[in-house]
Amino acid sequence: MANTELHKAGYILTMGEILVEIMATERGQSFRQPGTLIGPYASGAPAIFIDQVAKVGSRCAMIGCVGDDDFGALNVERLRADGVNVSGISVIKTATTGSAFVTYRENGDRDFIYNIANSASGHLSVGNIRDDLLKQCNHFHVMGSSLFSFRIIEAMKKVIETVKGHGGTVSFDPNIRKEMLRIPEMREALDFILDYTDVFLPSGHEVMLLASASSEQGAIDELLKRGVREVVVKRGKDGCGYYDGTTALNFPAVSVTEVDPTGAGDCFGATYIACRAQGFGLEKALSYACAAGARAVTFRGPMEGTATLAELDAFIANPSEQSHG
Ligand code: ATP
Ligand code: MG
Repeated sequence: MANTELHKAGYILTMGEILVEIMATERGQSFRQPGTLIGPYASGAPAIFIDQVAKVGSRCAMIGCVGDDDFGALNVERLRADGVNVSGISVIKTATTGSAFVTYRENGDRDFIYNIANSASGHLSVGNIRDDLLKQCNHFHVMGSSLFSFRIIEAMKKVIETVKGHGGTVSFDPNIRKEMLRIPEMREALDFILDYTDVFLPSGHEVMLLASASSEQGAIDELLKRGVREVVVKRGKDGCGYYDGTTALNFPAVSVTEVDPTGAGDCFGATYIACRAQGFGLEKALSYACAAGARAVTFRGPMEGTATLAELDAFIANPSEQSHG
């Protein structure tokens, strides 16, 4: 990253949806009939990301909206307790906090029912952006899942342009859920954000979605030519790959029993970004990131597996001790 000293001094900022997640308890459970659900769990990809950044020990803040309800309080109190600056989270009196219902298919795929666009999170706009947070922000992280309305896309553009304008950096995790590609303006926004992205953090299947090349390596080369400085590809139980045009690295995953995969990518990305901002070397940052992703899947609930560096050290020393189903 461009300026390590600046990063140490400034905030890592993210903006977007704050949700609770309510999960089906059985694999293969259908939402077309009654069944047992568990939750609410604190969720929302940017919220999980920033919680993990705080746990790694970096100064950080989040901009978002919640309703004046217990789902909102559950989230905001959790983020605050873990060390996130929550002064940029607005309470919208006339709306309820967003939610996501998730059920796992037998093959591990997930189906979601979202209430985001019509929730408090859908109220997020340029008006919610506090200038003092922007001034202190040296790194901004964008989740593709947050780009679900014109208002939010406009707000993202403002933050990105301001942060880049004062020499900060941007990371971008497309985090595409098939349910979200139904929103036409999101596709365009993904493309806009890539133009400003320094660190791109796609899942394996997303690499090709945002480039025209027909092979993964071709797509990575295209992204690097376009101005992205680092591409870190998340490959679930197959670990991750790192590419910056001169260095290519493959990191194996830590072997664990997966309880709940949601949140692994957010914890991985947050750990990578925070460790790099704190001046960690590339391999150290990738190894902590892989550990954070692997540890997260051993916990039920998307934000329940966020971890401090001390917890990650303990996990790396003895991964099999984890099981939190
Ligand atoms: P999501 O589908 O939730 O958006 P993602 O695709 O963004 O997730 P993943 O690749 O699933 O991200 O996970 C991020 C990282 O976490 C991986 O690169 C890997 O290092 C680690 N990880 C994820 N799942 C597992 C697993 N089952 N076993 C070990 N490590 C895992
Ligand atoms: Mg993801």
